[in-house]
Amino acid sequence: MKTQSKPVFKELIVPVIVMFAFWGIGILGWSQSGYLQPIVMFGYIGTAIGAGLGLYGILPKLKKPLGRRLTLFLVGAFLIAFTFVGRENSQIEGLLFGLLAGIVQMAVIHYMIAKIFGPILFGRLWCGWACWTVMVLDLLPFKRPNGRLPGKWGWLRYLHFTLSIVLVLVLVLVFGFRDGATGTFAVIWFIIGNLLYYAISITLAFALKDNRAFCKYICPVSVPLKITSRFSLIKIGATGKECNDCGACVKMCPMDVRIPEYINNGQRVLSTECSLCQTCITVCAKDSLKLSFGFDLGGKDLLRERGQMVTSSAPVVGAE
Ligand code: SF4
Ligand code: SF4
Ligand code: SF4
Repeated sequence: MKTQSKPVFKELIVPVIVMFAFWGIGILGWSQSGYLQPIVMFGYIGTAIGAGLGLYGILPKLKKPLGRRLTLFLVGAFLIAFTFVGRENSQIEGLLFGLLAGIVQMAVIHYMIAKIFGPILFGRLWCGWACWTVMVLDLLPFKRPNGRLPGKWGWLRYLHFTLSIVLVLVLVLVFGFRDGATGTFAVIWFIIGNLLYYAISITLAFALKDNRAFCKYICPVSVPLKITSRFSLIKIGATGKECNDCGACVKMCPMDVRIPEYINNGQRVLSTECSLCQTCITVCAKDSLKLSFGFDLGGKDLLRERGQMVTSSAPVVGAE
């Protein structure tokens, strides 16, 4: 009995910590504001992420992707519904409108937790487990990308981020526009903005045969995430079991991270492109990878480019 329960217990450590961290944030928000919404929102999201991470940890390899899909749906659908009920704009422009107006609406709190301060603990967990754009993108058939486009295409997201800031500043400071954070117009902005994101991201996925092309080249939200996730305490690390450089993890990584080059160099995966989806852990036949806690500075992006060979030709077990 003991030999079976110990591994299950170990698999549940990170999910439980993440779940309690979210509940803690919700309780803190409630104690500071007096409103129940932070507990409802962060308690629900923490439970959904914890349940998905836990399922991912304990399910057999072939069934593991169910855990992530479940969390993506539970969190993504909830946040969209929450935005409608609260009549807010949760697009990045909604955050900027809120900050300029001094309104601490849920979108502001959401960005602070999921994209600014939270990633110091759990990196880009948002991108692997909770984003409502990827909730749809991950249903598309191009789960095994062929690597990144050569060149500096990733800079498009910085351009997008800058244009979003400039647009909001012009609307507020030049035209005196004040309705971008909450109210009817904010909801319309949110709907149109999301429809545009879905249209562009699905088109790109088919054009480049890569579900995550939008994340890699266009998404403005990845800009703050790439900064704060450098400090993430949770990253992909080594178990100590030898990596034989088979390349299966690289082949399946949706973000094209060259994982073994970090591991075989005695480092954790320091790329700020990692979404902590855990696909690499699942497909590693050598059990060389795990989620780990530690102190190190990310930012070193070793990414596979198109045409770059990976060594594995074996079938990959547990692939999404
Ligand atoms: S990069 Fe953007 S679209 Fe992709 S998962 Fe992250 S937040 Fe969502
Ligand atoms: S390195 Fe692993 S956890 Fe990170 S994105 Fe790639 S497959 Fe997912
Ligand atoms: S799948 Fe495992 S053994 Fe193969 S390269 Fe990746 S970490 Fe190494």
